Amino acid sequence: MMKNNATSTPSLSELTGCMSDYDPQAVPVIQAQSIIRDYITPIDSIEKVAIRSALDRVLAADIISPINVPAHDNSAMDGFAFNARDLRPDADTVLEVIGIAHAGRGYQGAVGPGQAIRIMTGALMPDGLDTVIPQEFTSTANQPPGTAVTIPAGAVSAGANRRLAGEDLQAGAPALRTGRILRPADLGLLASLGIAEVPVQRRLRVAFFSTGDELRSVGEALDPGCVYDSNRYTLYGMLHRLGCDIIDMGVVGDDPLALEAAFRNACENADAIITSGGVSVGDADHTKQMMAQLGDVAFWKIGMRPGRPLAFGSIASNGKRAVFFGLPGNPVAVMVSFYFFARDALLHMMGAQAAALPLMRVSSAVNIRKKPGRTEYQRGILTQADNRQWSVRPTGAQGSGILRSMVEANCMIVLAHEQGDVAIGEQVEIILFDGLV
Ligand code: AMP
Ligand code: MG
Repeated sequence: MMKNNATSTPSLSELTGCMSDYDPQAVPVIQAQSIIRDYITPIDSIEKVAIRSALDRVLAADIISPINVPAHDNSAMDGFAFNARDLRPDADTVLEVIGIAHAGRGYQGAVGPGQAIRIMTGALMPDGLDTVIPQEFTSTANQPPGTAVTIPAGAVSAGANRRLAGEDLQAGAPALRTGRILRPADLGLLASLGIAEVPVQRRLRVAFFSTGDELRSVGEALDPGCVYDSNRYTLYGMLHRLGCDIIDMGVVGDDPLALEAAFRNACENADAIITSGGVSVGDADHTKQMMAQLGDVAFWKIGMRPGRPLAFGSIASNGKRAVFFGLPGNPVAVMVSFYFFARDALLHMMGAQAAALPLMRVSSAVNIRKKPGRTEYQRGILTQADNRQWSVRPTGAQGSGILRSMVEANCMIVLAHEQGDVAIGEQVEIILFDGLV
């Protein structure tokens, strides 16, 4: 389980002590993020998996290359290999072709002065040869085919088109660092080193449930005044993308006893618990009382939009402890709070050393209203004009319940705490939803 014991982890009140400088009504985003960061400890529970199963998992040890890559000097081109000492500086060079080297089937024998071999990409460079001329630069005119090659003056320089042993990676050098979330290229690199299995952190177990008497699950009738529970599905998707083991605990009504039972159950089975709803002013009171018994939880009002209320801390039951994120109920607020608070914390718990997502600057296609004193995450649509310049505009109404706008958007426009109104053409920072790998 988690190493959140009292000796290694500061309590929330220790961490939030510094918040007295701020209006407790609005904890700045950066500050809440840093408190969360300091509070979280990574799990440390390692399993070995085959390289295919390691995709998207967190590497749990440095991988040191056991071999040189490439293992031997070899040709980067189809062409002719020779020793550059034979090149004539100001005239064509004619060399005798005495054999052929294929990839995986080298040329056996010595190649002497004035001689060359035909060589294929990836074939071993015979001893004493250091240069390859691609075949398209050569001619065999005036020579019986296959017996000699003419290298035009100045067509190639010494050492060209040869890959040196160890030039990609030297034996003993670190190939991959612990904490890396393994991507397709990493699987290929591991295979290129002949490594079949790697140590990874076990998957993080995350339990979640939705709270609210008005919620109905998909498949149920929608009674008057009720809404379908969409948060469990967005949370499922977001947690799945992070590679978590997911425990979906369904909907829990606004009832303190039912909530307590759900929290205890979640706590005993998961590393982290995520709930949605029930943390805004009206609801929070009965949750707060129950939380005070179960753990160390702060109820924040974050200086942000959407997603003002946020509960964070840890709770314990029967000797098991779990980190807790109480996200707001509104569907967009859930996603934004997840992405900008829970995501980084969960990655950290998973042992991942993930770089912060890049904020890119593009010009705003419209005027955007923004009050200083809170961070705004507006749903944005990034488009490229005919002149190939990118610009972004908000999706329109930014209500925290409008999930459709999250679907329409392809990025978030991140308007920093101190930022005021944005004028058309001004640069704004965005985070893209999709990436290449
Ligand atoms: P709350 O934070 O519980 O006050 O909820 C704020 C708003 O979000 C209310 O309109 C709720 O009906 C709505 N809401 C809460 N949970 C969900 C959910 N799981 N799916 C969809 N909407 C929700
Ligand atoms: Mg509610």
